[in-house]
Amino acid sequence: MENKPIARTLRLLGQLMELHDENPFKIKSLANAAFKVDKLPFQIAIKSADEMEKIEGIGKSTATKIAELLETGHITEMQSLLDRTPEGVVEMLGIKGIGPKKVATIWHELGIETVGELYYACNENRLIEAKGFGLKTQDEIVKIIEFRMASNGKFLYARVEQEANELFQKLKNIVPDALLSFTGEYRRRCEIITELTFLAGTEFQDADITILANSGLLNDQSVDGHHIKGETLNGLLVDIEVTSLNLFYSKLFRRTGSPEHVQAVTARIVGSLDHTENEEVIYKKAGLDWMPPELREGDAFIAKAASNSLPHLITYQDLKGTLHNHSTWSDGVHTLEEMALYCRDELKLQYLGMCDHSQSAFYAKGLTIERVLQQHEEIEHLNKKLGGFHIFKGIESDILNDGSLDYPEEILKRFDFIVASVHSNLKMDKEKATARVVKAVENSYTTILGHPTGRLLLSRKGYDLDFKKIIDACAANNVVIEVNANPLRLDLDWRWHQYALEKGVKLSINPDAHRKEGFLDMHYGVLAARKGGLNREMCLNALSLDEIKKVFEQKKPKA
Ligand SMILES: [Zn+2]
Ligand SMILES: [Zn+2]
Repeated sequence: MENKPIARTLRLLGQLMELHDENPFKIKSLANAAFKVDKLPFQIAIKSADEMEKIEGIGKSTATKIAELLETGHITEMQSLLDRTPEGVVEMLGIKGIGPKKVATIWHELGIETVGELYYACNENRLIEAKGFGLKTQDEIVKIIEFRMASNGKFLYARVEQEANELFQKLKNIVPDALLSFTGEYRRRCEIITELTFLAGTEFQDADITILANSGLLNDQSVDGHHIKGETLNGLLVDIEVTSLNLFYSKLFRRTGSPEHVQAVTARIVGSLDHTENEEVIYKKAGLDWMPPELREGDAFIAKAASNSLPHLITYQDLKGTLHNHSTWSDGVHTLEEMALYCRDELKLQYLGMCDHSQSAFYAKGLTIERVLQQHEEIEHLNKKLGGFHIFKGIESDILNDGSLDYPEEILKRFDFIVASVHSNLKMDKEKATARVVKAVENSYTTILGHPTGRLLLSRKGYDLDFKKIIDACAANNVVIEVNANPLRLDLDWRWHQYALEKGVKLSINPDAHRKEGFLDMHYGVLAARKGGLNREMCLNALSLDEIKKVFEQKKPKA
């Protein structure tokens, strides 16, 4: 074994000891020894334990550990510490800039055990509250984690959007006469982007390729036939294909849909697709209505396109209000009034559903019964002076381990509506987790099921659920399912939207905003819901204020 991995192991051991609050003197001497080993001008592995001990800065105890490592491949003391530390917490130790003391706080005080959860907690501002952290540390951690996520080549749609649009503009400036479009994952509004692809159609193919090749538009740029390839500043792969005007629309069609989709459509066409004047013509040749790019995954919507029954997809403008949001009453950044005014004046919405955390969510300053009542007073007061804009009294009730909601009935019935969400014990097996959620759905006070799987895209796989069972239970109990619009969640996954809609289950595009700007995430929720085929009629928060008041009233159990 070389010096470097030995030093690395000693350093990790020291970090683990610090994490577990062991003797500071021992920790210090291990850190010194790790530093020393790293700098030695010879391989320490050739020395005996006795010889190592004599090297300045190493000492008997560390020498014994190195000898054990060399002989057995591990250090017993380290193994026992690792056994007591969740894998994700060990991973956090590897994030530069946090350090074992802070990791211990994150783990013990915030109950966070994976890097994904840590990232999400930063989004919810939970770190600011903890000892030794501030807004600055939190922002730094977000940056580091985003960099790590990006390093495997996958990007959240929301993190790509701005750069993608800027690139599009630059392309337009370089080849102003070309037809230009996004294709692939980005045009289909996929939640994860692995490559940003463009298509340019031009009369002067060779000349335009040369212009683009010399433009320095991309990092690491190269030309491969009709393709300009490279990366964005953030390391996202980019492919710009330059084609002739004649082939533009057939290529646009072929480069946009998933391979299964393109196959399913072309199988219905006899003859060539070249020289088509737009995509509509291609779909028409296949006996189909034109399909929005979002729906071009697999063959899911082909039958509907063939029978003239494609959904009229929801748009951002269709949304009339926003449900499931947090204020300073729990873990939000802005006050109830600031949130309401933003919705009314900036977003021109008709209503705001306030859903601060419930009492069990102590880490998020969940509301005790007393504070629920106080908040209701404030809401009533604000509703009188907001001139027709309405704040609904909601709560994001934790779903407890046994599936029950987080308050006694006399409190539950005071809310206008309730979002029930799982936040704890995410490691239940599929059967138990499903039963717990079904029980919550069957509670007559539950209006909306919040972020069903708890997934965090690119970092935490949601827990396994029997979605059919849960959606069927929502249908039977008239419960709406949330499409959590946070670009990290987008949960319920769009792949389940059609099943829910076919069962008559409505969806609600909820930003889960923890600050004013968080409302804007509804844009990403709309994109995901469009992929799922949601129309305005089946979207809860596309209802007007009067309509949704009635829906909430009807849903509440009668006394
Ligand atoms: Zn939640
Ligand atoms: Zn929430």
